[in-house]
Amino acid sequence: MPDISPEILAKYEPVIGLELHAQLLTSTKAFCSCKAGYSDIPNATVCPICLGHPGTLPVVNTKHVEMAVLLGLATQCSIRPISAFARKNYFYPDLSKGYQITQFDDPICYQGNVTIEIEEGSMKQIGITRIHLEEDAGKSLHDIDIDTLVDFNRAGMPLLEIVSEPDIRSAAEAYRYMVTMRQLVRYLGICDGNLEEGSLRCDANVSVRLKGNSVFGTKTEIKNLNSFRNVEKAISYEIERHIALIESGGEVRQVTMQWDASAQCTKEMRSKEQAHDYRYFQEPDLGYVRIEEQMIDRKRSQLPELPLAMKLRLQQQYGIPGYDAGILTEDKDLALFFEHTCSLLSVQSKERFKFVSNWVLTEILKILSERKIGIATAEMIQPKAIAEIVDLFADEKISSKIAKEVFAEYVSNGISPNEYVSQKGLMQISDREEVERIVLSALEGEEENIEKYRSGKNNLMGYFISKVMKVSGGKANPRLVNELLTQHLQ
Ligand code: ADP
Ligand code: ZN
Ligand code: MG
Repeated sequence: MPDISPEILAKYEPVIGLELHAQLLTSTKAFCSCKAGYSDIPNATVCPICLGHPGTLPVVNTKHVEMAVLLGLATQCSIRPISAFARKNYFYPDLSKGYQITQFDDPICYQGNVTIEIEEGSMKQIGITRIHLEEDAGKSLHDIDIDTLVDFNRAGMPLLEIVSEPDIRSAAEAYRYMVTMRQLVRYLGICDGNLEEGSLRCDANVSVRLKGNSVFGTKTEIKNLNSFRNVEKAISYEIERHIALIESGGEVRQVTMQWDASAQCTKEMRSKEQAHDYRYFQEPDLGYVRIEEQMIDRKRSQLPELPLAMKLRLQQQYGIPGYDAGILTEDKDLALFFEHTCSLLSVQSKERFKFVSNWVLTEILKILSERKIGIATAEMIQPKAIAEIVDLFADEKISSKIAKEVFAEYVSNGISPNEYVSQKGLMQISDREEVERIVLSALEGEEENIEKYRSGKNNLMGYFISKVMKVSGGKANPRLVNELLTQHLQ
């Protein structure tokens, strides 16, 4: 890949459209009663229907359709009252039926949009072309000694394919779109959004054109990007590959690429001439999907508060910065935890809400990532205890250092912060005279340093403060320590 100068890069505008596949959290598969979800044992959750044995008949899973409608409503789509299924015919070892049931001309949801936040406070709308119902194929396991093995557990799993308009203009925007869509399907509870495990998969269509040009360039499609980083890197790489090609007098060919994560580049999989002719036709074994107004109304009433709305509300209601609200709402459970904790504070003030946010963003997220769990399953961390810690701190009963100790004790031994602080006598010393006695005893034998401080070595202040804190066992009120030290050092 030749190095392209920033000036040349700046002449071009990337155009990107993403196709996402979301695996749904239904309890059974799309067209049979096999258990949906992961199984360790290959080919344990299969039946003649999802394997496509002759003479079997598929049946539509109502939950599959309802989840599509829910996502359609959350993305401002129109919902088609009557749509059909189609057969997409191709041969592959992991497709024992020889075709995939999908939707073609008349997807259940169409013409919607999603708002993404490109940078703090700066929004952009990305059009949604369509959302359609389909089923997944099985999984081929290559390179197992000399054999290729096939696991059909995934065959017939319900998917939604979500196709965006070519409205995305950079790899960073594509990344934001992915993050937003993942957050959305998780808020709706329809997909766990796990890219690494393949429950959310992304194909990226990329082209470039000279800025100011109104026609799109020829696109290439990058298949199966299985992490956020790979989405961003593969798109960036492909953009530069197109530009380098055009700048050197070449032409972009319409090909399907794949991202080679170990070589960190895209590689050609097949060209348009090799593209499949899927011979779509209407699925004869299934009737039409009819969506009634009442069902749409019911789904609309089930829509939860959506991520962006929740983020803006937290900013508004609690006076916390957009940055904080953004991280809190990445995971709905974390945002709910924050709100629950705030509701338990003894004083409802923006200052304390910010303390709660700080605590969640630093101490709590640290523990969650260490233990690789989400807040919803972290039983050792409850809102009540966090509210106690924040109250103790805000009431100047404990210092931030003691607060951390109290928290660590709570998380590992379940001791309530209030109890621990009173049992251990950790209450902050806020009695002026007592703090003064501590300050004076800490300054004993420090004549030399005091002299240096007075002659201008101001940075010794930190040294004095930490000595006072040490003498007090970390319990002296820092505000008073500061004030009294300054006074006595004059
Ligand atoms: P195809 O017929 O090749 O599947 P579609 O028109 O169905 O192409 O579009 C598939 C995806 O490619 C959509 O997400 C769409 O936004 C995107 N797309 C279409 N044209 C372009 C283009 N010129 N550059 C980038 N993306 C594009
Ligand atoms: Zn089955
Ligand atoms: Mg297409």
